[in-house]
Parts: sequence; structure tokens; C-alpha cells
Amino acid sequence: QYTVFTLGDALITFNPSETGPLRYVPSFTRKVGGAELNFAIGCARLGLTIKWASRLGGDEFGRVIYNFARGEGVDLSHVEFVENYPTSLNFKEIREDGSGKTFYYRYQSPILTMEPDDIKEEMFEGVDLIHLTGVFLAIDPKNLEIVKRVLNIAAQKNIRISFDPNIRLKLWTLEQAKAAYMEILPAVDILLTGLDEIEMIVGDSADSALEKCAEDFHIEQMVIKDGGNGARVYQNGTWHKKEAFPVTPIDTVGAGDGFDAGYVYAALHGYSPEDALEFANGVGALVTTVSGDNEGLPYLEEVTALIRKEKVVER
Ligand code: ATP
Repeated sequence: QYTVFTLGDALITFNPSETGPLRYVPSFTRKVGGAELNFAIGCARLGLTIKWASRLGGDEFGRVIYNFARGEGVDLSHVEFVENYPTSLNFKEIREDGSGKTFYYRYQSPILTMEPDDIKEEMFEGVDLIHLTGVFLAIDPKNLEIVKRVLNIAAQKNIRISFDPNIRLKLWTLEQAKAAYMEILPAVDILLTGLDEIEMIVGDSADSALEKCAEDFHIEQMVIKDGGNGARVYQNGTWHKKEAFPVTPIDTVGAGDGFDAGYVYAALHGYSPEDALEFANGVGALVTTVSGDNEGLPYLEEVTALIRKEKVVER
């Protein structure tokens, strides 16, 4: 049984009851979201022990998130409620053509109360891998110091690091994001990035440029997610690629977070590069078949069933 640690904010997401400009939408369905929490739920469903460090509002919505995460089996020992910091919210708008927008209400996120000193060595007892994302970094400049403290402890304890840049240009500029990533990347073992993101970070999409980035930062596995085209990884000087599973996507939000959970599961269990990509593609594909950011995250049996069926069809 492997143990994974992640760190980040969570939000209440309001999904519109109907399509069209938000100003005309009278009712919403309340859901729970946030990249790191989605990742954590993905890990829990696959059977990993997952510890999530966060701060939640000391309000009704904070309780909703806490109870939801607890129900999914996420270890909440490092989650605290903060009074007078309302839980962050976002409202989704879905246009008739299926395109969407998200409106964030995240001015005084409870996670802003987390300080580097709150990160204690004993939090990482028994942890095999730490997963970090750029969303946490983007929320507040101070979070880079928190992440650096996590990375220091990880280096002392020899804990592997996975990182998803998850660029959110609504929260900071590309220049700010890149400056922070440059400080993180030397410590990253597994980089999990979207194709568009790595192009923005490296400033070039040619394989040679990506390989140089992996080599310059000593990134052991550079994984590039490419939606319906599947994913590839640059590892030990070679590219490995796997096609996506042929599914009919209903809602692709959260596919990347699910993919990350799947890839981390596979990496911890020592899968070959191709098998790890296939497993993670399976998780990502299943996420897209269900509406919601984390509702579609599969249990281990569901991923293995998808993979087995695929293999039978191939023969
Ligand atoms: P996000 O952060 O918005 O969740 P991302 O850019 O990190 O997304 P994507 O590349 O969109 O991630 O998707 C992650 C993975 O999910 C893909 O690599 C693929 O395995 C799977 N996936 C996504 N879209 C599809 C699809 N249409 N069909 C099959 N699999 C998909």
C-alpha cells in the first residue's frame, strides 16, 4: 500500500441548471472541485493512501468539502478549518455550443493562512510520493516558500515528487508562473503536463526542445497529456506513446487530474512506461464519460476492466 501526499485549495463549484449567459441562469447544482482534491479523490478510488493538506473555510461550504473528501476516504489529518475566511467558490457558465467559462470567487481563500512553518517533517511519515500543482503556487506568492519547504523535506527523506503545472492565467501571468516553475522543476521526478502547457513553459513544441528541458532539469519522466490523442512520456532518453481510449467524452474537466492520479499509481507500482501511460489514459478517459470534475474518477476495477476490454478488442 503506497502513500501519497498532496497540498492545495478546494472550492465549491456551482454548475448551471441550463446553458447560456450566467446572468440568465436562475439555479445551480452544488459540487466540490479543486485540482489537488480531484487528484486526491482519484488516488483514493484507485486504492492509494492519500493525505491532503489544506485549509477550509469555517463555514457551511467548508463542511461540505470536508465531508465529501472524508466520504471518499481521503486522509484529512492535515486539513484545518479557518474562521472568517469563506470557502472559495466558482460558477460555471456553459454556452449552447458546449464551450464554457468559469467565474471565480476566491479573494480570501482559507489556504492563504497556511505558512511555511505549518509544514512539519512528521507530516511526511511513510509518504512515498508528493504531488504538487501550479494552482497552489498561483494562489499566493508565499506558497512558493511553502512548496520549497515541502521539497526540502522531500529531499531529506528521499520522497519522489510529481508536479502538474496546471497553468491558470486568471491567477497569475505566464512570466510569474514560469519563474516559479523554474525553482520547482529541478526537484521534480515526474512532470505531468498538458501539451499546450509545456509549449508555453518551454516556448517551443519541438521534441528536441522538450528533451532539453527534461535533461536540463533532470526530470526522470516528462509526461505530456494530449486530450483525445492520449499521452506520451520522455524517459531514459526515449519517447513512449499511447493512444487515448476511444470513449465519447461528455465533460473533459478533471481528466488531467485523474490522469495524474492514474500515472502516479502506475509509477509507484513500477509499471513500464507504456503500461503507465495506458493506465493513466484509462483513468482520464473514464473521467470524461461522466459530468463533473471528480464524479467520473474510476475505481481500480473499472480501469482494469477498460484496459482488458481494449486488449481483447485488439486481438
Ligand atoms: P485538465 O487540466 O483540463 O483536466 P489536461 O490538459 O491536464 O486537462 P487532457 O490532456 O485534456 O489534460 O486530458 C488528460 C488525459 O485524459 C489525456 O491524456 C487522455 O488520456 C484523457 N482524455 C482526455 N480527453 C479525452 C478524450 N476525448 N478521449 C479519451 N481520453 C481523453
